[in-house]
Amino acid sequence: MAEKRKLEKKLVESVACIAPNIYVLSFKRDFQFIAGQVVAIDVTDDAQPRLYSIASGEKDELVEILFDEQPKGKLTPKLSKLKKGDTIYVSEPFGTFNCGGEKAWWIAAGTGIAPFVSMARSGLGVHKMLIHGGRKDENFYFADYLQKELTYSYIRCCSQQQETINYKGRLTKWLKNQHELPLDIKYYLCGSADMVVQVRDILISRDVPFHNIISETYF
Ligand SMILES: Cc1cc2nc3c(=O)[nH]c(=O)nc-3n(C[C@H](O)[C@H](O)[C@H](O)COP(=O)(O)OP(=O)(O)OC[C@H]3O[C@@H](n4cnc5c(N)ncnc54)[C@H](O)[C@@H]3O)c2cc1C
Repeated sequence: MAEKRKLEKKLVESVACIAPNIYVLSFKRDFQFIAGQVVAIDVTDDAQPRLYSIASGEKDELVEILFDEQPKGKLTPKLSKLKKGDTIYVSEPFGTFNCGGEKAWWIAAGTGIAPFVSMARSGLGVHKMLIHGGRKDENFYFADYLQKELTYSYIRCCSQQQETINYKGRLTKWLKNQHELPLDIKYYLCGSADMVVQVRDILISRDVPFHNIISETYF
């Protein structure tokens, strides 16, 4: 749950279902932000907002949020039912999960791809290796765009589909199977606490310095 932040009223531009239980919510951008930052969102201004990474680019007209609907969750079943013109309450963007133009690896699971989509859309995709873990082929959100932007440095690890066009197995398996991991670059990790801890442990066991591992944990 997010700490108490001032929320401002915004009007929903659209909510699109892009895969089973996965949605992109958009609203007009009237603030500046740095790719990788999050906003707190709610459907009322006095409840307990949840945090979401911004998935759109820094200069895009609309702010896009990628979220998965948690069937028993408090907020996401409400977000998925919103229509154009409905009201939501959104905080100023904040957070320090930011990356520059230098060489780096981006590692994401599920909707944890969102900040990297924002970074790529903001022109930071050059010199990056992106590894995305998802259950099925349909869980590689924004894949067409990312494929164009990152071409040969975009790996999709599909963990739960027998026949897949992608790497078959979890992203942790893919990482463990790499003969060498660069030691002089930063690794940006985004996703569930489980994924972040497992990937961090693999990187540390392969001598990646702890200070080169930067993570954003979704909880
Ligand atoms: C920095 C940060 C960035 C984030 N960015 C994103 C993002 O970009 N996209 C995204 O999708 N999420 C993101 N999250 C997660 C997001 O903030 C919410 O936690 C998530 O959307 C769930 O919200 P909710 O209110 O629907 O679920 P909650 O009510 O918070 O429930 C959380 C979990 O508990 C389960 N649960 C709740 N009540 C019950 C019950 N009675 N019985 C059994 N199970 C129950 C729900 O199914 C759900 O799995 C981020 C989190 C952080 C900290």
